Amino acid sequence: MIYLDNSATTFPKPTAVRKAMNDAVTQYGANPGRSGHSMSIRASEEIFRCRSEAASMFGVSSPDNVVFTLNCTHAINIVLKGLLRKGDHVVISDMEHNAVVRPLYALKERGISYSVAKISEDDPDETLASFRDSLKDNTKLVVCTHVSNVWGIRLPIERITALCHQYGAEVLIDASQSAGMLPLSMGDIGIDYLCTSGHKGLYSPMGVGMLITSKGGRLNTFIEGGTGSNSAMFEQPDIMPDRFESGTQNLPAIVGLRAGIKFVTSITPEKIHAHEIMLLQNLYDRLAENKRVILYTPRPDMLHSGGVLSFNIKDADSEVTADYLNTRYGIAVRAGLHCAPLAHKHFGTEKQGTVRVSPSYFTSIRDMAVLSQAINSYK
Ligand code: PLP
Repeated sequence: MIYLDNSATTFPKPTAVRKAMNDAVTQYGANPGRSGHSMSIRASEEIFRCRSEAASMFGVSSPDNVVFTLNCTHAINIVLKGLLRKGDHVVISDMEHNAVVRPLYALKERGISYSVAKISEDDPDETLASFRDSLKDNTKLVVCTHVSNVWGIRLPIERITALCHQYGAEVLIDASQSAGMLPLSMGDIGIDYLCTSGHKGLYSPMGVGMLITSKGGRLNTFIEGGTGSNSAMFEQPDIMPDRFESGTQNLPAIVGLRAGIKFVTSITPEKIHAHEIMLLQNLYDRLAENKRVILYTPRPDMLHSGGVLSFNIKDADSEVTADYLNTRYGIAVRAGLHCAPLAHKHFGTEKQGTVRVSPSYFTSIRDMAVLSQAINSYK
């Protein structure tokens, strides 16, 4: 199979990730942070190493500010439900995933409102103006994805963060589609909350994500329970990261995440990004020659794009095209709305959906050639 659905989850995972997970299960698979014996201590140490490496990768000073979650959706929910109160207003971009939109829609019942800022795919000043126009006196939080999971459009998060801080709003960046590919220092940019999956560009297995905060444990938590710390207390501990990490941690996935982070940093995010953009440019140029193919966004480049490209074949249902590629050619792409209906509304593709191609570091130029031949032979 030619796997081009890496925005959903990367496949294959690097050998080092698989080995690290195997070691965790076979050599020291005890419950981390719960017991004083050597296996449990080793498990805790491995988790701490992952925390430290994530903190340094994303530019926060303390490993304690890295909270391990189930996935990015869980991390986003912790911030939205822990921070927002009745009367608060939130601004989101029109590229946001349902991981953001659905919790906010549900929070309307608790008196929390939100506005959607329309981004411009080619003019960052227009994007900024749109955010500025959406901000209100009671805007507590701005949520913005770094890279659209449908269109690959890269949003100017540095400028958006600076603008929102001027207006007194905090900023949550959804780095699901950029972590491991675009440089992202929370300290340098001033991001308040960074939420990401591990299983996409950080090449971890599924079952782990991260919430990284610049401020520590100011948020309320919606999960309470055992942390292995302060066990005599009935109150949930205030200390980070324990406040948000009740229950047994996913040791094999976190150990796999550490190996994934090491894999990415050893190659460097810049090289991975350059590789994926080179592949998408190659595909874009091939598809641009086919008059039946609709390309919605400008040609991908390092400055404006992440590793995602969406297209359609005329008015063919995107699911039909994806099924054809899968069954006839063994090519895995994703069709439909990609859990981001607002992003489809932006380009008017909410009925047809799009066929999304997302390579990884393991994708080759030959894969792009096979894909474009398959598309060109579509009747
Ligand atoms: N945000 C974006 C931009 C995504 O692309 C995704 C997943 O595709 C998510 C959030 C949710 O990530 P997870 O499935 O890890 O919760």
